[in-house]
Amino acid sequence: MADLPEKRAAFMDWYLAVVEAANLTDKRYPVKGMNVWTPYGFQARRRLDELMIREIEATGSTPVEFPTLIPETEFQKEAEHIKGFSAEVYWVTKGGSSALDIPLVLRPTSETAMYPIFAIWIRSHKDLPLNVYQIVNTFRYETKTTRPFLRVREIHFFEEHTCQATEDLATQRVRSNLAAFAQMAQALCLPYMAVRRPDWDKFAGAYYSIALDIPVGEARTLQIGSIHHYRENFSRPYEIRYEAPDGSQSYVHQTTFGLSERLIGAVVAVHGDGKGAAFPTSIAPYEVVIVPIPGRSPTTDTVGLANEAARRLRAHGRRVHVDTSDERPGAKYYRWELAGVPLRIELGARELEHKEASCTDRRGTKGSFPLDRLEEEVDRRLAQYDSAIYDAARAQFRSAFALARTLRELAGSVHVRVIAWCGSEACGHAVEEAIDGSLLGTPEGELPLDLPKLEKCLACDAREGLRWALAGRSL
Ligand SMILES: [Zn+2]
Repeated sequence: MADLPEKRAAFMDWYLAVVEAANLTDKRYPVKGMNVWTPYGFQARRRLDELMIREIEATGSTPVEFPTLIPETEFQKEAEHIKGFSAEVYWVTKGGSSALDIPLVLRPTSETAMYPIFAIWIRSHKDLPLNVYQIVNTFRYETKTTRPFLRVREIHFFEEHTCQATEDLATQRVRSNLAAFAQMAQALCLPYMAVRRPDWDKFAGAYYSIALDIPVGEARTLQIGSIHHYRENFSRPYEIRYEAPDGSQSYVHQTTFGLSERLIGAVVAVHGDGKGAAFPTSIAPYEVVIVPIPGRSPTTDTVGLANEAARRLRAHGRRVHVDTSDERPGAKYYRWELAGVPLRIELGARELEHKEASCTDRRGTKGSFPLDRLEEEVDRRLAQYDSAIYDAARAQFRSAFALARTLRELAGSVHVRVIAWCGSEACGHAVEEAIDGSLLGTPEGELPLDLPKLEKCLACDAREGLRWALAGRSL
């Protein structure tokens, strides 16, 4: 196989080559933007789903599932929402050969499917909070070039929808979602920024939107998730009301939290390198691959040794694959590096004789250990590997940001730019023009670089209402 393109200089070429070589998805399905999940890629997706389920359920959310088709009449109840989505929805207009009385939308997101039913479910303050989530496929007619995991028309979507009694409680739910995402990102070894989007770039119908962004390639950013506060923007048109203990009626305040298979794209983008993909242990389809190396003597049963090691590791809760294919060991090593398997164990005649195992992690760290310590050594080496890829990702993350003091410094930037901004839309647009990208918004947490005192807006020199903001080009 040819060498991979250079990651930093030709990020998207590199990314597409890695996704294909690692066999995570098959792009040959004859509908653009709708990829086939391969057996290997599906395992990563299932692990990701499990991670999302674990963390969201720890915050008191319950799974539900709503239908894929939404009547046009429900879809059109919230004006901003329709404006935001109408250009990218798929319509179902026929049942068999007859036209449907009410056309149906293939859900692009599920507000308009869920909220008419929430209005029935919620009657009293005792029905609150309502915290539910679903993991389903959603559909958006993407007109830009589609990319596996990053920009697709059929999206594997995690969406939480909540109803709270007050605006403050909804704000607390946003905080709780941010904390849950921090746990998920830690398991994926992914550094990220939570960024409050400017008003002109928030989700259609939201009061405000917090995006979860990561830097990728040169000056590019990728949104890997979002959390929205809706206030009463949807509960009013959908009439989701509750009766308070004093008998008064109030509208609920709503929030949503959205994630998708983009997280798999993000894992490839951040941890991958010149040798291919690199999975963190948490979502690796196989955590360990064992390669038996045939001995010269037919009595050297390295396959038996490998199968026994795999049995022990599986009993210990590890996902293991024994590669007994006909390829030469070197070809196997190369293939599993491309596929991003965290730890490879090699078992040959020498290992059999000394009752030990040789191993190499995906970063190239080699070692050997006695086979009677197999389980604990694998645990220890996987933990070390995760910690090493997290450190490398953090260093890469820090080096992606740089301060810009003038509009001129934004042009041709290879960094995500940190700027002082007065908050005005006019200055925001001046920034977007200068960087040929987006004003991403204001960071919710600490920025990964030392900053001077805020002095003046880089666009208008104003000294009032200043805040730090991020600007970059989205992928
Ligand atoms: Zn300004």
